[in-house]
Amino acid sequence: MTDRNADLRGTASVLSVDTLHEEELAFVSNSVLALLARFLPDKTTLALEAWHVDDAAAEITLDVTSTQACVPCPLCHVQTTRVHSRYTRTVADVPWGAYAVRLHLRVRKFFCDNPRCPRQLFTERLPAVVVPWARRTLRRAQHLSALGIALGGQAGARLAARFQWRTSPDTLLRLVQAASPPDLAAPQRIGVDEWAWRRGQRYGTILVNLEDHHVIDLLPERSADLVAHWLTQHPTVTVVCRDRSALYADGIRRGAPHAVQVVDRFHLVKNLREAIEALRHDQRPALQAAAAGTAQALTQVAGLVAAPPMYRGRHRCSQVGQQRQEAAQQQRHAAWVTTYEALHALRAQGTSVTTIAAQRGISRPTVYASLRRTRPPSPRSPQRSGHVLRPYMTYLIQRWREGCTDSMQLWRETRALGYAHSARTVSRFITRLRQASAAGWAPETQTSPYTRPQGPSARAVSFTWVCPEAKRAQDAQLYVDQLIHADPVLAQAYTLSQAFLALVRERRGADLTAWITEAVTSGIAVLARFAQGLREDLAAITAGLTLPWSNGAVEGHINRLKLLKRQSYGRAGVGLLRQRVMQAV
Ligand SMILES: [Zn+2]
Repeated sequence: MTDRNADLRGTASVLSVDTLHEEELAFVSNSVLALLARFLPDKTTLALEAWHVDDAAAEITLDVTSTQACVPCPLCHVQTTRVHSRYTRTVADVPWGAYAVRLHLRVRKFFCDNPRCPRQLFTERLPAVVVPWARRTLRRAQHLSALGIALGGQAGARLAARFQWRTSPDTLLRLVQAASPPDLAAPQRIGVDEWAWRRGQRYGTILVNLEDHHVIDLLPERSADLVAHWLTQHPTVTVVCRDRSALYADGIRRGAPHAVQVVDRFHLVKNLREAIEALRHDQRPALQAAAAGTAQALTQVAGLVAAPPMYRGRHRCSQVGQQRQEAAQQQRHAAWVTTYEALHALRAQGTSVTTIAAQRGISRPTVYASLRRTRPPSPRSPQRSGHVLRPYMTYLIQRWREGCTDSMQLWRETRALGYAHSARTVSRFITRLRQASAAGWAPETQTSPYTRPQGPSARAVSFTWVCPEAKRAQDAQLYVDQLIHADPVLAQAYTLSQAFLALVRERRGADLTAWITEAVTSGIAVLARFAQGLREDLAAITAGLTLPWSNGAVEGHINRLKLLKRQSYGRAGVGLLRQRVMQAV
């Protein structure tokens, strides 16, 4: 009865009602208990006896007892009803709003009455509420684990704190590590690919079920042995999709000799694109001719007066192009250093500056400038800064349109706007405008004539080249047309590569050998090399061009893996990454 009185007083104080009779209070109290019981983790095995609120600690404590009439022995599974004793377990449950919730769980110990069972006493299990010896309820652990899987330790704990969940990054990570791997069906068609621990240095392997798109496993290394071992443990696999690496080919051959190897189509198109990029580097004059031709053709197309994005600004260099630029820069720097040393040596011998200038074919001011230096010139950074006039070009073009062609006047106007360089630069720009205008350039375009004649990079062209015709932008299509027109070798290369892309898109693996023969005898070195490469892996590539499987899902998971890896600031081990990438939240 004392418990019940405490309960009534609790209800009265929470509801702030002093005027109710005891019967009315009892009714309200029972209603509140019935309401609160709905929030228990499992209503079928638990009964709410009482509840206490600690406002200072923002904590609610629920006294809960088990209502199971008979329970099975965990060892022999024989049901028993004979109670030995009772004790209380304290477990944390999910919070209610701003209040943390603790369950005081009254559980019982039972006798096992099975005479053949070695266990005589056992504690009742509540499998839907809490695992044995745990300090938190099952649902709390699941919620925290889901947070950890989605966000990792630090970010997960920060978000948990926002939602009044008291936990720590370490706890989240422990729960993620302890989460049991999802139930996966025996895989039959899988995709295998590498993923980077650290790009260019260390790689792992990811395996994805191509039928349900779930990650099946994450291996810490990119090695044929590991893949072979994994496949021997998964004998149900019949199709393996891979990139073109010999390493995975070898591992699959050893681990699953009966499985069909399929080369991913994306990698084939990528290799073709790279071959085309190399071809473009050998065909610079044709590239430039096509750029000029396209610029001309574009002016004839209505609505395309301004230079299209493909031609705007300085073209972005491919990696190969950038390396060439840097090598040329180094050569120029070496020449400057040689000149500097020669000038100083001549001057030390007493030769006059005029004689030195005449001998070396340099102007006297340059000789003076070099002699003033106390050390050779340092190498210039490979990135050139933009044109000093660039911020004022729009203004100058606008003034030109208004009819102002006096470069001195324009120089004074730009100086007022903040331009701090010579009048000659402005004058050169105005001359350029005059020339461009005479050549048919329309000043209404607002675009500087400087940005006009540049064509796209070899890399950009190669992407356009492998892009389906229906998806090409108008200017890109014009450019490709010009290119084919400009050079018969390019025209032949274009026809060949389009034929290969048709094999890929229409999955006509049967026609592959005929295409390879044609490409090898075409006389175009890069395409012949590409075709020879296909011959070395013919069976798998033919399968890739015939079967529907591809590694698109694998690439998607690799992107997700990158995100997970970065979320952990690169500190997560393979165990944690494996758990997070395999558990879908
Ligand atoms: Zn037993």
